[in-house]
Amino acid sequence: MNTTDTTTHMQVARRARQRPGTWLLAGTERTAEAADELAEAVLTGAITAYLPVGAFEAYTIGLGSGPVLWVRYTGGKKLPQIPARMAVRIPAGEEKRPDSVGVLTVSVLPYCPVCGGPRGWDNVQPARVLFRQVAVWVDRWPNRCGHEDEYADLLREARCTPPYVPEDAEPGPQGADPQRAGAYRGAVELLLDLVRQRRTPPTRAGFLAVLRRHGHDEAARLLEIQTQVKPMGAARAAHFLTVKGAECASLPAPRPEVSA
Ligand SMILES: [Zn+2]
Repeated sequence: MNTTDTTTHMQVARRARQRPGTWLLAGTERTAEAADELAEAVLTGAITAYLPVGAFEAYTIGLGSGPVLWVRYTGGKKLPQIPARMAVRIPAGEEKRPDSVGVLTVSVLPYCPVCGGPRGWDNVQPARVLFRQVAVWVDRWPNRCGHEDEYADLLREARCTPPYVPEDAEPGPQGADPQRAGAYRGAVELLLDLVRQRRTPPTRAGFLAVLRRHGHDEAARLLEIQTQVKPMGAARAAHFLTVKGAECASLPAPRPEVSA
């Protein structure tokens, strides 16, 4: 069930049209599934505020506070796409050696962990900063949302960001990996079994039914939505779930409250 109402969508769509190319927060949902459904509704014109089809883009991202939906108005123009990852240089040193100073290149998701808006991936600039009293060259990327990234948080985030799996790693199951699929591990294993065991690949209805029979209802629902937009076989479906599961597993945990 989507929790963002029609009036909100009308307002967001109007603001987006006034600022073409600018990503805006369009809703906070309770589940990743609801957020993905909402994104589909934006892209397919099921929510009339975002008509005509092709005028808006949308993405969803999970946060500690729940999944969010971001949209932008393109008017059908091809605009630069947010990359899958961003690599940035940050200052780093060994914990046990306070005198050690270095620069580390880390790979993180290009989304602000506070609000889910795009990080300043298209505006990364070299910056000289003091780290443990030593000046080092690293990167700075002002985020449009105004939330500033802390270098210490980025190091933690990079450690739990899964390696990038290309969405179009077709054909075959090589992009699928149960180890990386997080919550969808069982579903990915099952799909890969189906691909290996059968001479003719299972149909969409066939693999969705097998997933449900084995209790992978959430994976089946996610695939049901996705396969309406983009037809795919079981191998590609296993790959899709790997990407989704890895994304969810990489969500930063909410920061603990620190009391003085
Ligand atoms: Zn932000």
